[in-house]
Amino acid sequence: MARQFLGNRLATGALIVLAAIVIACAAAPVLTSSGPTDTSLGESLQGPSARHLLGTDQLGRDLLTRVLFGGRSTLLHALIVSLVAVGVAVPLGIVAGYVGGWADRVIATVTDIVMSLPAMIVMLVVMTAFSEHLPVAMAALGLILAPPIVRNVRGAALAVRNELFIDAAKVAGLSKGRIVFRHVFPRVLGPILVQAALATALGLQFAVGLSFLGFGAQPPSPDWGSMISEGSQVLNSSPWPLLAGGIALGLVSLTLVLVGDGLRDMAVESWTGSPSRRRRRPARPPVMVSQAPRSQDGPETEKPAPDEALLVVRGLSVAFTTGGTERKVVSDLNLTIAPGEIVGIVGESGCGKSSVSRAVSRLLASGGEIVGGSIRFADKDVASLKGEDLYEYRRHSVSYVAQDPMTALDPSLRVGVLLRRIVQAGEGLSRRAADARVLELLAQVQLPDPAAVAKRYPHELSGGMAQRVGIARAIATKPRLLIADEPTTALDVTVQAEILGLLRSLQQQLGMAVLLVSHDWGVVAQICDRVVVMYGGEVVERGRLEKVAREPAHPYTAALLACRPSSVVDDDLPLPTILGSVLSPGEWPTGCRFAARCTHRTESCDAAPIPVSAVASAHDVRCIHPLRDGDSTEVTADV
Ligand code: SF4
Repeated sequence: MARQFLGNRLATGALIVLAAIVIACAAAPVLTSSGPTDTSLGESLQGPSARHLLGTDQLGRDLLTRVLFGGRSTLLHALIVSLVAVGVAVPLGIVAGYVGGWADRVIATVTDIVMSLPAMIVMLVVMTAFSEHLPVAMAALGLILAPPIVRNVRGAALAVRNELFIDAAKVAGLSKGRIVFRHVFPRVLGPILVQAALATALGLQFAVGLSFLGFGAQPPSPDWGSMISEGSQVLNSSPWPLLAGGIALGLVSLTLVLVGDGLRDMAVESWTGSPSRRRRRPARPPVMVSQAPRSQDGPETEKPAPDEALLVVRGLSVAFTTGGTERKVVSDLNLTIAPGEIVGIVGESGCGKSSVSRAVSRLLASGGEIVGGSIRFADKDVASLKGEDLYEYRRHSVSYVAQDPMTALDPSLRVGVLLRRIVQAGEGLSRRAADARVLELLAQVQLPDPAAVAKRYPHELSGGMAQRVGIARAIATKPRLLIADEPTTALDVTVQAEILGLLRSLQQQLGMAVLLVSHDWGVVAQICDRVVVMYGGEVVERGRLEKVAREPAHPYTAALLACRPSSVVDDDLPLPTILGSVLSPGEWPTGCRFAARCTHRTESCDAAPIPVSAVASAHDVRCIHPLRDGDSTEVTADV
């Protein structure tokens, strides 16, 4: 960030001038040969000269000396305003934005009340009550200026709260305090610095204004407000007493504004990132059932028995509440994953697959909650975990690899620092040992030159490298289950294959289970042992990958497979798409949720909810007219 600021020459120059003024005022007793109250009536109202660089006032006092001494109290008062405003606003803004809930509502109410007060009248009342104590009045002004800063910081913290790298930090087991200190605060630092500069400028204006009205330094002591006031009284005789205070005020105000602009630009650049972070959405690869060795989870046609399973989800329902209306996005879902098994959840966007993965990792977005069923991980009831137990679950049981590797990494931290913090958080390693572990992790995800990668920021990495770093972070805590939510969607086809190969390789090395969420059959087919097909928030088919891919029993599964690019035999034809579109939660019918798009629909499909039934050993389908060998399902061409 400092480098970005220094790149703005105007802001850098303004900062240098501001620093010079502040230092000169602080060192006034050393820099000046006379005192601010030393009079010389014989030199009254003189213009600038070698002896008096800014001239003299009506009592022959050196104006430069008075500006420097007067600046000490004026700048101190402005600083008090800024410190109080920022010191109060930043914690409140972060709590309101990051914690949310009732804390946000209480803070919003208080800030609304304070902002509705007439600031000038409040200040005059405060000045009357504390006329002898200008610092107290400045502190009161800081409180009045705090609410807009609270809102600004809240907005920044709210935006950061929804970033993927915050979710990743939670799953990595970082406590709330550590996440706020290490990830949220650095991201809101830019807006905070901007607001601090503006609050200081406002405080300066108020301090000078109040002093001009007689509430500041009392004669013969100077401050800039009293100097401007005295200068205005002798303006007809000499402009220099007025100009001396005015120039000092104008110069500091201007430099504060320019520094604020520089900080704002720096913050915007830091928030938006470099253009290299935006990547083209890649084409989908053809589906091919990989012949790579599968993990051993028992006989190939059997799903794990619940007592052998690592993860057992039963009757899971997830709902989101918006505007007082609860909408289910997942209903009555069963899922079982054995230790070391790779299970894929596949379906179009809006089918609820990511809600399942987020429920398992306890990362449901704001407004989302588990409203039914159970999630058992080993011997833990995941849905009821809280506090230290939830921290331990995220720290040692599950890890999360997000879709967009660029937004899943904190852009303000070098890769080495980011990983070191994860490694140190739970293992108590020394810095040297943690750095060695970081290099080991980067080598484990097959990044060339780990030492060089550790020194880079996320925006200096390619998409594939960033996803490898994301995977390194995920395995840093030695999870038993790695959840990968569309881990290759943001990557090009070649890198997709490399990342999937890496996931398979790590799964075999570490013996962890993997839950892979994807809309792309090609991705699921490359590494999964079993597949779960979701539609309309429920499972419509599940079974061994080879079985489901070669003999789909549900028309939706068959349609998904028919829409693979590899199924298009004539390159001149457009890629087929499934008839219609996914219904939103809340629009689901009583009967089959796929009925509106199904070419095999009959009247009985709409009569009642469709139960799941077995079509073969460990091959289940939610359809009353399951497809048999030779059945086809129609899709429409996207023309
Ligand atoms: S239950 Fe009926 S409408 Fe639903 S997928 Fe099966 S055939 Fe189609």
